[in-house]
Amino acid sequence: MDALFQPVSQLKGIGQKRAEALERLGILTPYDLLYHIPRSYLDYTHPVPILAAQPGESCVIRVQIARKMPPQYIRKGMTIFKAIATDGVSDITVTLYNNPYGFQALRLGEWYRMAGKMQGNLLRREISAPHVLADRAKEQIFPCYPMTTGISAQLLVQAVRQAVTLMQQQPFDWMPAKLRHAHDLLSLPEALEQVHFPENPGRMEQARRRLAFDELLQLQLGMLMRRADNHTRTAYAMASTVSLEPYYSGLPFSLTAGQKQAIREIVQDLCGDAPMNRLLQGDVGSGKTAVAAAACYFTIQNGMQCAMMAPTEILAVQHYHTMQQFLEPLGITVGLLTGSLRTKEKREIYAALADGTIQLIVGTHAIFQKEVSFQKLALVITDEQHRFGVAQRTQLADKGGCPHKLVMSATPIPRTLALMIYGDLDISILKELPKGRLPVQTFAVTGKLRQRAYGFIREQLQQGHQGYIVCPTIEEREESDLQAVEAYAENIRQTAFSDYRVGLLHGKMKAAEKEQIMHAFRSHELDLLVSTTVIEVGVDVPNATILLIENAERFGLSQLHQLRGRVGRGKEQSYCILMTDHVTEDCRARMQIMSRTSDGFQIAEADLQLRGPGDFFGQRQHGLPPLRVADLSHDTKLLEEVQTCAKEILQQDPELKQPEHRGLRLEVLRLFQRNGENGRN
Ligand code: ADP
Ligand code: MG
Repeated sequence: MDALFQPVSQLKGIGQKRAEALERLGILTPYDLLYHIPRSYLDYTHPVPILAAQPGESCVIRVQIARKMPPQYIRKGMTIFKAIATDGVSDITVTLYNNPYGFQALRLGEWYRMAGKMQGNLLRREISAPHVLADRAKEQIFPCYPMTTGISAQLLVQAVRQAVTLMQQQPFDWMPAKLRHAHDLLSLPEALEQVHFPENPGRMEQARRRLAFDELLQLQLGMLMRRADNHTRTAYAMASTVSLEPYYSGLPFSLTAGQKQAIREIVQDLCGDAPMNRLLQGDVGSGKTAVAAAACYFTIQNGMQCAMMAPTEILAVQHYHTMQQFLEPLGITVGLLTGSLRTKEKREIYAALADGTIQLIVGTHAIFQKEVSFQKLALVITDEQHRFGVAQRTQLADKGGCPHKLVMSATPIPRTLALMIYGDLDISILKELPKGRLPVQTFAVTGKLRQRAYGFIREQLQQGHQGYIVCPTIEEREESDLQAVEAYAENIRQTAFSDYRVGLLHGKMKAAEKEQIMHAFRSHELDLLVSTTVIEVGVDVPNATILLIENAERFGLSQLHQLRGRVGRGKEQSYCILMTDHVTEDCRARMQIMSRTSDGFQIAEADLQLRGPGDFFGQRQHGLPPLRVADLSHDTKLLEEVQTCAKEILQQDPELKQPEHRGLRLEVLRLFQRNGENGRN
């Protein structure tokens, strides 16, 4: 197996230059080459009749060379070679550019398979610069790899072939045979060979299944082991005798059963010896903040400090107000730390944190600054965690010995996926919304109904409610988008809403300006807020009952759901109008789902199906190591199988210390080292 871990430059055809090119692909050794998985395949196994191939589409045909024309010399540096070929029924012109050797190789009367884009029309078909394979070639499926400059596809294939040969000389498989049979998987050497050079599509699928299984299993094991490892650390243990009664009786509402349950779970963690690592998941409006405040109260009554981080300044300020409202009457000092504070203000806060005067600090990533130190930081809460990089979360965690961590997320994800992505966290779920909430009534309409929609909004405002109009911006930086919101606000101020107080909020405003507008809206000095998606996350104004979303087609389902969560936060019936003139199938499907259900889990499931996990989370936001083969949204069945398997393995061997798991342990470590940002801590 050693040969597999030598530098790639040991391989034939790979010198210094090419080794450097390979390094850009993350390939240092032949072993890495084995795991350089093809992006797709050139599959010659299913040729179609020439007439069956649609012009403009890629196809594979099987043809005999009938005639070769003399080369056409077009100009310096451009010679065209043409041949006429037939599949026995119809003819096709095969065109090669500047490729005398390729042309020479085509022999009259011989049969070939050709892959390329069909061109021409019904009468005269043509295929240009096709990939060509002798009809009788033994191998008919070829790998297409992610490429880089400095190395050709052909060389890469040759290098992979050498790596496969090296592996076959000393085959290895970390997976015990028993496990392999139980899950009906190919052996690793077979899988690694077949994934590069498959005998047929069926084998290729089997190979990918085995490799995806490995990847998911290693990921799941890694996450579960992290969780176990976390339990071995010591945390600030708190006293269970501290009573939450004063907090409960100060609240303007009574908590839901779900909120109480979550608080119990959190308090139990806080009183344990190991640091809490818990995810609080709850749909928009389910009342996560009140749960977080309870955790803070409990921690502070135990004589320790808390930090709460929000992804945006608007949200930080809002949380600050909420926390003040909940906790200051109980004698707790709450501070706010954001990037837009003056240096002097910041210094005061730093001092108050260091000496313990401030017991709860709410803020944005400004809390990470290295100047910030705490007297005794015991609890770190992050809201809407998928917006924070893992690295940032770790930084804050480093500010106290080993603080308890609570992560709040309104992104509902299907359970199997949650088990994978949050495999290292314990999960509390708020299933129900506070009593008396009515589901938001949602309508999708076209621009023709805009005036009626405005009329409807006016009715709501007339009744003393407030509303939002959201205009999309693809990029907050784009001037034209910005003008669009500004112009929009100006326009409705002068027309449909001239009798109302209309505010404007967008991401390009200064923090102070934003806060001023939000403050005015919260205190009902504004009736209607025209906004970009800066209000997407967390904004909480229960008196707002109507939301109009312009160009709704530009938003994904989960984002629409988040936006819709800005209304329906009080007792009154709320409404959401999705305005779109876009009538594609896909858009219609999304609008229908939104109108039909307000259940975040159902919406997330649908979103995942429509978009796949990359878009769903936003690339890399989940902080997992990059997966090469497995696809988290489509391999659900496999994921379930893997999760059972991982549990069984760990039950038997929690640290993968047994000899039969030694290889597996190495693979897990390797997976988590694949890139810098790996997992959470
Ligand atoms: P989210 O889970 O989306 O962060 P919030 O914590 O912002 O939700 O709560 C949404 C609204 O519901 C807030 O106005 C909050 O005061 C209110 N709320 C929270 N818990 C309850 C409850 N048990 N009963 C009534 N209202 C509640
Ligand atoms: Mg929230």
